[in-house]
Amino acid sequence: MLVEGEKILAVVPAEQVPAGAHAQDFGGAAILPGLVDSHVHINDPGRAEWEGFETATRAAAAGGYTMLVDMPLNCIPSTSDVAALEAKRAAARGKCRVDWAAWGSVVADNHDHVEALAGAGVLGFKCFLIHPGTDEFTMVTEQELRAALPQVVRTGLPLLVHAELAGPIEAATAGLGNADWKSHATYLRSRPDEGELSAIRLLLKLCREFRFRLHIVHLATHQALDELRAARAEGLPVTVETCPHYLRFDAETIADGATLRKCAPPIRSRENREKLWQGLRDGVIDLVATDHSPCPLSMKQLDTGNFKTAWGGIASLSIALPVMWTEASRRGFTLRDIARWMAEGPATLAGCGARKGRITRGGDADLVIFEPEAEFTVTPERLHYRHPVSAYMGEKLRGVVKATYLRGKRVFAEGTFPGDPIGREYRK
Ligand SMILES: [Zn+2]
Repeated sequence: MLVEGEKILAVVPAEQVPAGAHAQDFGGAAILPGLVDSHVHINDPGRAEWEGFETATRAAAAGGYTMLVDMPLNCIPSTSDVAALEAKRAAARGKCRVDWAAWGSVVADNHDHVEALAGAGVLGFKCFLIHPGTDEFTMVTEQELRAALPQVVRTGLPLLVHAELAGPIEAATAGLGNADWKSHATYLRSRPDEGELSAIRLLLKLCREFRFRLHIVHLATHQALDELRAARAEGLPVTVETCPHYLRFDAETIADGATLRKCAPPIRSRENREKLWQGLRDGVIDLVATDHSPCPLSMKQLDTGNFKTAWGGIASLSIALPVMWTEASRRGFTLRDIARWMAEGPATLAGCGARKGRITRGGDADLVIFEPEAEFTVTPERLHYRHPVSAYMGEKLRGVVKATYLRGKRVFAEGTFPGDPIGREYRK
């Protein structure tokens, strides 16, 4: 591969490398396209004590990611209008080790801002069909979503949806009586598959009616796969994501009080996990994003181990690639599959696929040097985000990120972060 400045000039056989080119040999390591994470909560401005641009992009570089797309919630203000987007840009300035961009929000009362946000540079929109866990970001009802969808359609940008409906979840929770909330099984029963299924059915109906680009974030139930497959066969513009934790963990092995593994939707059964892998194999699930959603350790309430009140979110930016490789390689998948799920797929969703997510002529020289056979154990020093809290602590993983290059410059090498933070916002 020939790199000139920030760009990939060409991909040629070794004998065609021009004399005088500065050559670098990475031995037996694999060279992957820089990963793109289309689902990250950077929480900055407003909750930088949970994460922040400096720490999130540092963890990203260590994890082989070269671009993050930031979710519009958990930061204050939420990215619901152009002023909030500008506040985010100010918070990011000079701090980023990888490139980034923003999703805007569709909340209860901002549909007048949707097109302005698109004009100002967001890559798409995110909404919730259920209370999102923080109070300053509002969910949308079907009626509110209907009011916003014509604007979303006019932007041509995707709408990413947290697909759970409150009805089945409230009913399930009400039926739990005095169940033990230290047990993950209780939490799982409170957020049944039906919550996801009913939301996805509603979204497919709206997609058929409005023809917006629908993206289902963090699919956790396999039960929706057949309907999603049928929707795509019908020609609906639907894409689907799942996350490393749904592909690694299973509900059967989550210990009482292990709230580090709390997320929403919840981690479901082992059988469900294997069917999600089948969804990836069949191509019904397009991509894998982290849903990196960190918090201070105290919010995980490890002292009480209460799954009802602990923060739901799993942070994994710096280790998602080895987690995925560990699980994918043992199921017969290859690094090409990993690159499709974790680089090309998210880049296509975000509309930045011409420059990001592939090793291609004219693209940004964003690269990961990855040793697929090396192994390591997850320790706090490997995490690099603000709070070294991890659902994966102590686990042995396969594959080590040796170096990460952003637009031709090394931004991570053997545990260090050389140079100044050169990451910048991706603009079309
Ligand atoms: Zn999320």
